[in-house]
Amino acid sequence: MIVKQIWTANAYRNFNYLIACEQTGEALAVDPLDHEKCLQAAREQGWNITQILNTHEHRDHTGGNDALVRSTGAKILAHKNAKDTIPGMARGLSAGDVIKVGKTVELEALDTPGHTMSHVCLLSHTDQPALFSGDTLFNAGAGNCHNGGHPAELYKTFSEQLVKLPASVSIYPGHDYIQNNLRFTLNREPDNRLAQELLDKLADQDPNRAFVSTLDVEREVNTFFRLSSGSVIAELRKSFPDLPDQPDPRTVFLKLRELRNSW
Ligand SMILES: [Zn+2]
Repeated sequence: MIVKQIWTANAYRNFNYLIACEQTGEALAVDPLDHEKCLQAAREQGWNITQILNTHEHRDHTGGNDALVRSTGAKILAHKNAKDTIPGMARGLSAGDVIKVGKTVELEALDTPGHTMSHVCLLSHTDQPALFSGDTLFNAGAGNCHNGGHPAELYKTFSEQLVKLPASVSIYPGHDYIQNNLRFTLNREPDNRLAQELLDKLADQDPNRAFVSTLDVEREVNTFFRLSSGSVIAELRKSFPDLPDQPDPRTVFLKLRELRNSW
């Protein structure tokens, strides 16, 4: 499996992806908003885009579909419940469905509601696993829920699915938000040294060659995985004085999600 991360350089800071089979050159485009950049990257590599995967129905993820279908004839895949919101869907995905790309690549669909209620993430079945996490999991952050989502569902997705993935899984999110998110981590957990080190290291990162984190790293620097951290809870209590000594992780997650909205 070859992964090409494509930085759109747009105001929403979207990342698009091409996932290719090295034997056949067939490629799947993930959320190809910048269809021209995706096509150009495929051309440069000698790849054929045969499938488009939309992680969810938001326009900044689906807006390139029409043009890319016109120039490649690629089939559109997305969550089965997105069929009324994503025009031209050829295949609706349920949890556990496998998407093949060429001869060598297998991607498993995870049903990951929260950011929207018809969101999928893709998990590669490869030696070095990779997660294409759309707007569910960002580097050092979590998706918002104010455009068709539900924070309690997002918590369930994190606690029942994402935390259980292999620690070594590479994270490929739908947007480049890492710097802002690390600042939020430090706002919530001022003594998180790893978050500070990473923020310093990425101060002048070129998003064309973006840092790729792993779940292991996320567990250290992503507040939404640090629900039992003493300093996260102590800091949270300043905003929510009624918080018990050992609040349940769901409560912590929901309060963090709420604070992140206004931060
Ligand atoms: Zn979105």
